[in-house]
Amino acid sequence: MSTLLEVSGVSVTFDGFRAINNLSISIGAAELRAVIGPNGAGKTTFMDIITGKTRPDEGRVLWGPRSISLLDLSESQIARQGIGRKFQKPTVFEAQSVRENLAMALKNPRGPFDVLFYRKSRDTAARIDEIADEIGLTEDLPRRAGELSHGQKQWLEIGMLLAQDPQLLLVDEPAAGMTPAEREHTTALLVRAAQTRAVVVVEHDMEFVRRLNCKVTVLHEGAVLAEGSLDHVTKNQDVIDVYLGR
Ligand code: ADP
Repeated sequence: MSTLLEVSGVSVTFDGFRAINNLSISIGAAELRAVIGPNGAGKTTFMDIITGKTRPDEGRVLWGPRSISLLDLSESQIARQGIGRKFQKPTVFEAQSVRENLAMALKNPRGPFDVLFYRKSRDTAARIDEIADEIGLTEDLPRRAGELSHGQKQWLEIGMLLAQDPQLLLVDEPAAGMTPAEREHTTALLVRAAQTRAVVVVEHDMEFVRRLNCKVTVLHEGAVLAEGSLDHVTKNQDVIDVYLGR
């Protein structure tokens, strides 16, 4: 698997506190990766570094086959490289239909305003159908997004990110607040999404991570404590001590 993202030797200090400490993680081109760790381990800061929200004091963040340094790019330039981020809270346009939400995302990743100028083309309609199928909302396309369940809103937002065709999708606790059936759907959705792009999932829920059935990186005090299959990392004594044994 070729490397898509290479974070190496990165450190971040907030007011003298080292939140990220010589962190190195690399993500493959069509890899599904779970990043776990106790509160304060540095998971959010890790994603903030990739998206350019937080700038490290040292280290490198290299992207793609040409090893572009993301540290030289602005947040919007990084997004345009094909890096999408899903925050915990869904931010869909509640008054618009599911179809309109997806159309807006396809038309203009920056905001809702271009919807006025949106013209339905064959390609766009076909792509909306494809994405709706991928996120399991085909029958809900005409519904207002505000009428969707919490889980469905999360899937719609993932669909809106997929519409922008990211090469890397960062997803923050996608299963939070979901019913067991919704979790199962979310697992399948993320596994499928990772067939054609890299997906990094930050998650607390171990059962959810188990179902993702992917390589796991355990963070602790801003560094990698263990990496490998979930079975492998959960047998690691350091992991048991700092995370599972709490
Ligand atoms: P996680 O997402 O794993 O819970 P975070 O990345 O949010 O961890 O935080 C890592 C550490 O950095 C924590 O100790 C947190 O309090 C600290 N931290 C995060 N952001 C800031 C900030 N803007 N200013 C000061 N400290 C911060």
